[in-house]
Amino acid sequence: MFLRPPCHKRPLRRFFALLASLLLTACLNVPQREGAGASNTGWIPSPNFDERRANYVILHHTSDDNVTDALNTLTSPLKGVSIHYLVSRDGTILQLVDENRRAWHAGASWWGGQTDMNSASIGIELDNTGFEPYPDIQITALTALLADIATRHNIPRANYLAHADVAPTRKSDPSALFPWERLAAAGFGIWCENPAPAPENFDPRLGLTALGYDPRQPEAALTAFRLHYVRRTVEHPATAAEETALIHCLLQESW
Ligand SMILES: [Zn+2]
Repeated sequence: MFLRPPCHKRPLRRFFALLASLLLTACLNVPQREGAGASNTGWIPSPNFDERRANYVILHHTSDDNVTDALNTLTSPLKGVSIHYLVSRDGTILQLVDENRRAWHAGASWWGGQTDMNSASIGIELDNTGFEPYPDIQITALTALLADIATRHNIPRANYLAHADVAPTRKSDPSALFPWERLAAAGFGIWCENPAPAPENFDPRLGLTALGYDPRQPEAALTAFRLHYVRRTVEHPATAAEETALIHCLLQESW
């Protein structure tokens, strides 16, 4: 049976609950504009607004051997990282952060001139070391999750990206073993198979920038592009002409 505490202890409890609530609110809210409420400014509240919405999905691999290790990192206040969803090797989907909240997964980033991808994206971690293939059941679960997210967010097909795409100097996830082509076939991401040659005057570096890659880091951007879109072996790499054709084709797919 639940016993209520003595009446004389309840005010103290209420005080600490109120204090905790105020501190939590202060931590969660972004500071307001300096001078708001001053005599020469005005704040006229409008009822016409809702929550900001993600317009990108960024995929990661955890680099961990198991979900438990990944969860320890993604929920530790000391680590300062988080994710909206974690998809385990057996297809279990765990949600860690509300879709309308800003999870801390992309870090310093760039895509098409945007430098705060955490504010614009839903992050998904895949339970994977980075050196193993992705089980069919895990990709099936991921595709179902993306379909579910699509019912709430009108995310353009070209905006399903790798962490490596938006942070090419720091990150290389998900690995080259990730089946982007399968995702694209389901409508999440773009893909080109056997593209036609690009026009002679087409500049592949400008093409990468137009896709969204960071023009300040052209070599890293090219590496990230190859990781995501080029399916060739080290022994038989794609030719420069083939890569240029691919970039040209992807640009057309992204519009
Ligand atoms: Zn990552």
